Amino acid sequence: MFKIKKRMAAILSAAVMTTQIAVAPPDLTMKTPSDISVSAYAADTLTISDMPSDFASAADWIWTNRIEREGSTTRRNTIFDMIVAGKGTINYVVKWQSYRTVTYEQRQNFETMLSDCINGWNDWLAGYENWPYDHIDVKIVGWAVIDESSLLDLHDDEVVYTDTKYYDAQYDTSNGRDVIPDKEPFAPSEISRFDHFAEKNYQYPGGLDKRFDMYMWATQGFPDIGGCGGDWGQRLSDTAYLNMIDGSGIHVLEHEIGHGFGMTDFYGGEGESDGFPPGGFPGGENSLMMAGSAAKITNFDGWMLRYMWTKIKNEDGRFDLANAQPPVTTTTTTTTTTTVTTTPAIKPERIEFTDTIVNIDEYSITFKENGTF
Ligand SMILES: [Zn+2]
Repeated sequence: MFKIKKRMAAILSAAVMTTQIAVAPPDLTMKTPSDISVSAYAADTLTISDMPSDFASAADWIWTNRIEREGSTTRRNTIFDMIVAGKGTINYVVKWQSYRTVTYEQRQNFETMLSDCINGWNDWLAGYENWPYDHIDVKIVGWAVIDESSLLDLHDDEVVYTDTKYYDAQYDTSNGRDVIPDKEPFAPSEISRFDHFAEKNYQYPGGLDKRFDMYMWATQGFPDIGGCGGDWGQRLSDTAYLNMIDGSGIHVLEHEIGHGFGMTDFYGGEGESDGFPPGGFPGGENSLMMAGSAAKITNFDGWMLRYMWTKIKNEDGRFDLANAQPPVTTTTTTTTTTTVTTTPAIKPERIEFTDTIVNIDEYSITFKENGTF
């Protein structure tokens, strides 16, 4: 019920937005994952000139003083990059750092939840300045687990990775009830976009469909509220993810995904180097990226995402829009449970819930969270 309401709210919000700018509303009909379509570059395509005039100075300020200065869209592994390289798809591996059991239905619901969140952002890009996709096909292509028995009723077509490495939780904040596991599961480096995006001609074993772009990282014992996001994925507590299946608190995941696009937090004060634009956020809805100020992707957030696309889309050699269309042929293969023995690709991370924004390592864009996010 909550989820339906939320979807309705999103549709209403989008409808209001399109009314204001007097163009045809975007196609908001439900689509199946196979319905990846490429937008016609119609004459009524939205451009930056359609941005409400009172949004401009705040968007400029955020771009110059936060995003550009912090370089949060510099690495060519933002979600913009992932989607275009994936020809309208995003693939996840779930990093289930938990002994809690997950039913088959819950696993399917996680895929729907991730799709809703990615497409909650993509709905703003559809029909805007050569963005090629009306809908993103989001898939969970594997589960990395510390205990295979946590996956109930495992199906033949589910891919499971059981290799783990030692995890030192001493710097993590705990929820005070559960012990944070001392093992961290991981998927093979050779199918990780994070590990290979900079290699121009890298071929994923098994093809593009077999790669994964991000982790949905669930950690037992993590605080109930709070998380981290970057181009490696989104990390929340296992129970936070499970509770989101009915739509509750899904904006927290959308916030973390916002970081994957290169959006910044706004923990600081007005006009400050880590703060929000002078005069605040226009539009009267604040921003999902300002923790606690909004519980949805606001109109301003949507326009900020569009603005970011405008800024980066023409970077030399960055987006291969001529080949953005998904291939016509598709392959269906059945994969059995596998165990891999590769060297862990992502360095051990220590995540605290603090006010600071840090880089976990020189390759990752990671934003530590506090408060309600
Ligand atoms: Zn954040």
